[in-house]
Amino acid sequence: MLSILDIFRIGIGPSSSHTVGPMRISQRFWKRLAQMGHLDQTDRIKMIFRGSLAFTGIGHGTPRAGYLGLLGFQPETINLDAAEAALANLEAEGRFIRDGHSVRFDVQADMVLDYEQVAELHPNEMEMQAFDTEGQRIYARTYYSTGGGFTASYSQLAKPAKDDKVSVGGGAVPFPFGSAKELLFRCAQQEISIADLVLANEDARRPRGKTERRLDQIISVMLAGIERGLHTRGELPGGLRVSRRAPDIWAKLRGAPGANERETLFDWLNVYAMAVNEENAAGGQIVTAPTNGAAGIIPAIIRHYCCDEAAKPDPSKTQVFLATAGGIGLLYKQRASISGAEMGCQGEVGVACSMAAGGLAAVWGGTPEQVACAAEIGMEHNLGLTCDPVGGLVQIPCIERNAIGAVKAANAARLALHGSGVGKVSLDQVIETMRQTGLDMSSKYKETSQGGLAVNVIEC
Ligand code: SF4
Repeated sequence: MLSILDIFRIGIGPSSSHTVGPMRISQRFWKRLAQMGHLDQTDRIKMIFRGSLAFTGIGHGTPRAGYLGLLGFQPETINLDAAEAALANLEAEGRFIRDGHSVRFDVQADMVLDYEQVAELHPNEMEMQAFDTEGQRIYARTYYSTGGGFTASYSQLAKPAKDDKVSVGGGAVPFPFGSAKELLFRCAQQEISIADLVLANEDARRPRGKTERRLDQIISVMLAGIERGLHTRGELPGGLRVSRRAPDIWAKLRGAPGANERETLFDWLNVYAMAVNEENAAGGQIVTAPTNGAAGIIPAIIRHYCCDEAAKPDPSKTQVFLATAGGIGLLYKQRASISGAEMGCQGEVGVACSMAAGGLAAVWGGTPEQVACAAEIGMEHNLGLTCDPVGGLVQIPCIERNAIGAVKAANAARLALHGSGVGKVSLDQVIETMRQTGLDMSSKYKETSQGGLAVNVIEC
């Protein structure tokens, strides 16, 4: 069941696959225990992280996110102060009470980072186990965090996909599409834009007004993230001693609003993208676009190209932008992956750049072919991009990489609009190339912090 609202989800930093996904998995396990009638016997719960979730889990705050899900917090609605208090209580008591059940959970003994057992169906594996008062295991389930906050149980992931049609609402949609080629064909057949086609599909799931309100909410969370990032100074958490830079760049730009250096465009896009990613690194509220690590690119383009001087969004632009970018994101999710642990950073920053380029080309009046061409260029020049976060934190190279990705997205849209939309490389070809490149890439470069910058930069 894919919708553009699954691509843009409100959550907390620093990682959609390593923070939002594990939080959802703990929630799922608790609900599953309730459905199976096991809560009365459950005395203790244990969580085991494998693969990338184990290798970079500490830096990404993965165990903490797992605990919060267990305590009943949801990424969309979490109150960070209440969450901190609940975590402190859990650490002190070694137990929590939920739905009238008192369950033991020792954050030292009941959370395991398993570096030995290989993750089976996806590099982000998480197993949850429940025990009775005798210490007998009464239920266990394995889940996967598949990128962008999406989760799947072992049985869901083991089942082969039925078809590759993007399906909204799980049922009939007016314009199903499983490839960029099919998407463009349907646009031509109906004589409509990609945004209109995507929104018509969304209408099969919910009334248009509800979709528009949700998209407006997504925009406002994105813009609020920029504002907080522009005005919050200090050091980011995690021990790398990385200072937030967005406020100083912002102050310089505000101090010289009329500056007409040609490079000023870069500064604006840089500062907006960095503001979001610094917020993300600090665990703040952001929107997966399509992931947390790559969450700065799309908001930067929206703020610079779809808002007025006072940062007020223009809905006629933002809706077109998000619907188009979301439709492109669905293609990547459906035909490849948006998980850094599967594809490297090309699957995160590369996809965000591609989505943003397509969305911006649409806002600038591009034809569906030019939009697809912009998205293709946005990905083509991110192919092979590895994921090698220093210290397992979503800071270096992630924050600057979003700034570069935002500039690249604008450039890709410009290049596409100079052409007719007919290029040598199609969007489908570049998506498939990204998928194959991701499969061939060594696991050292796929969110394990075992290669690249992560081993060449000395942590201090
Ligand atoms: S390097 Fe890229 S994929 Fe890896 S954590 Fe950073 S933003 Fe995500």
